[in-house]
Amino acid sequence: MSVKEDNEGKSIFHQTNLYGSIPPTCLPIVYHPDYNITFMGLEKLHPFDSGKWGKVIRFLKEEQFITDENIVEAREASEEDLLVVHTKRYLGSLKWSFVVATITEIPPLVILPNCLVQQRVLRPLRTQTGGTIMAGKLAVERGWAINVGGGFHHCSGDKGGGFCAYADITLAIKFLFERVEGISRATIIDLDAHQGNGHERDFLGDTRVFIMDMYNHNIYPGDRHAKRAIKRKVELDWGTEDSEYLQKVELHSEGSLNEVRPDIIVYNAGTDILDGDPLGGLSISPQGIVKRDEIVFRAAKQRGIPILMVTSGGYQKKTARIIADSILNLRQQGLIGAKAMEREGLSQLVTHLTQSSGSAGSAHTAV
Ligand SMILES: [Zn+2]
Repeated sequence: MSVKEDNEGKSIFHQTNLYGSIPPTCLPIVYHPDYNITFMGLEKLHPFDSGKWGKVIRFLKEEQFITDENIVEAREASEEDLLVVHTKRYLGSLKWSFVVATITEIPPLVILPNCLVQQRVLRPLRTQTGGTIMAGKLAVERGWAINVGGGFHHCSGDKGGGFCAYADITLAIKFLFERVEGISRATIIDLDAHQGNGHERDFLGDTRVFIMDMYNHNIYPGDRHAKRAIKRKVELDWGTEDSEYLQKVELHSEGSLNEVRPDIIVYNAGTDILDGDPLGGLSISPQGIVKRDEIVFRAAKQRGIPILMVTSGGYQKKTARIIADSILNLRQQGLIGAKAMEREGLSQLVTHLTQSSGSAGSAHTAV
């Protein structure tokens, strides 16, 4: 993989800490303890399990798939990184606690000084956003990558909402388009229970990005304008169950990848499709979620297309266990892990570090 440069061999883009080299001994699983939002019990006021990311990591460690040393530590996206997609006006608006309270749906944030909101809520979200951007590069290098957080698919360049304050999916794709040779087409497979109106608004009219979105059409956000960006729209009804759901996942992921062959797949693997989710309104079993992720990874692997997975929505108490079980199943099926990296079509992709990586060499440390 080579990073774009100007005639003098210098990066033509801003210096970022998110594109440094990763030791080959690390699995392309990205996480940081800062992902988790905990603050004076505030997290308990939200219907979300805002510590789910740390629990996923704990379960994966218990099963001895990962250790503190062999995963990749996420870095916080800087303001310059965010400005690749976000407007100054939007980032400035996050300096008002009431704006953040509205976006994250945590009303008590209104009364907190913004420095605390920045530190306890926005910083975790910026670190998860950095993680998605890092995982984009890793997916191209290794064939697959998982950011244990991210998937803020309701946020676009100038508007947040639905707990999403930064447009990490758009950012990861734009970073790849701008900085990595050979990446000029992306497919987003968005299987969170909600419509992904953020990346849809960002890529409306952009022919480089193919969007497949499968969601409960009766719930938030019902964004008709954004729907125009969806190339393959699959609208589900209340209470959709495994057999119908999985049939549609297979048909439409295969169909999307047959229609356009992308250089990268971004898979938004929201788990709010789970039966009993207070927001999603669908009735998919834990086994159904595990099978769904397997179908998508298999479709990518069969075609030799790199895949980046983000975990997105789904915050029930049992969600973390299901995400961990699904990642373990992907390993068992040979779809991720050391062997999955040696697939056809990817062996020629060799990491080539340039000045664009900023603090190259020290950019990444294991968690
Ligand atoms: Zn959702």
